[in-house]
Amino acid sequence: MSKHIIIIGSGVAGLSAAIRLRAAGMHVQVFEANDYPGGKLSQFEVNGYRFDAGPSLFTMPHFLEELFTESGASLSDYFSYIRKEIVCNYFFEDGTRFSAHADKEQYAEEASRTFDVTREQVLRYFEQSAMKYELTE
Ligand SMILES: Cc1cc2nc3c(=O)[nH]c(=O)nc-3n(C[C@H](O)[C@H](O)[C@H](O)COP(=O)(O)OP(=O)(O)OC[C@H]3O[C@@H](n4cnc5c(N)ncnc54)[C@H](O)[C@@H]3O)c2cc1C
Repeated sequence: MSKHIIIIGSGVAGLSAAIRLRAAGMHVQVFEANDYPGGKLSQFEVNGYRFDAGPSLFTMPHFLEELFTESGASLSDYFSYIRKEIVCNYFFEDGTRFSAHADKEQYAEEASRTFDVTREQVLRYFEQSAMKYELTE
């Protein structure tokens, strides 16, 4: 007899857990307080324009690939994506603009040109962040 699992919340955490548990043969029910799934992954429309209310950057796609593979589906049957050279453009009220490059060397160059920070400081920050990420992962 398969276990009956109840998941509270249909954000990415709840949904990905539900998919994995279902793929493992469990009976899964997801309960959501909102009248839509996705949690912080939501959007709203104003005058025909659609705005992301939560995440806009699709980071670490390999986790999503893994989720689809584990559940016997292929991500490419649902959507496709490409790695962008510029991840995001930031516009500040004082007119400063900053383009966040996917390549960390270019990111550090641009950051040192735009902000009061050296290229080396940015690269060191990336190294420290990578170390923390790998330790906690
Ligand atoms: C403005 C913003 C920008 C972001 N940008 C990025 C980005 O660019 N890239 C990125 O990777 N991440 C980004 N994030 C982070 C990312 O959105 C979150 O880490 C992720 O969506 C959290 O998912 P979750 O399932 O843990 O929680 P949530 O999405 O918060 O889901 C929790 C769900 O549980 C439901 N719930 C809670 N309590 C109950 C209850 N008692 N009964 C029933 N339902 C309940 C809630 O209604 C909600 O739907 C951003 C977040 C915000 C807010």
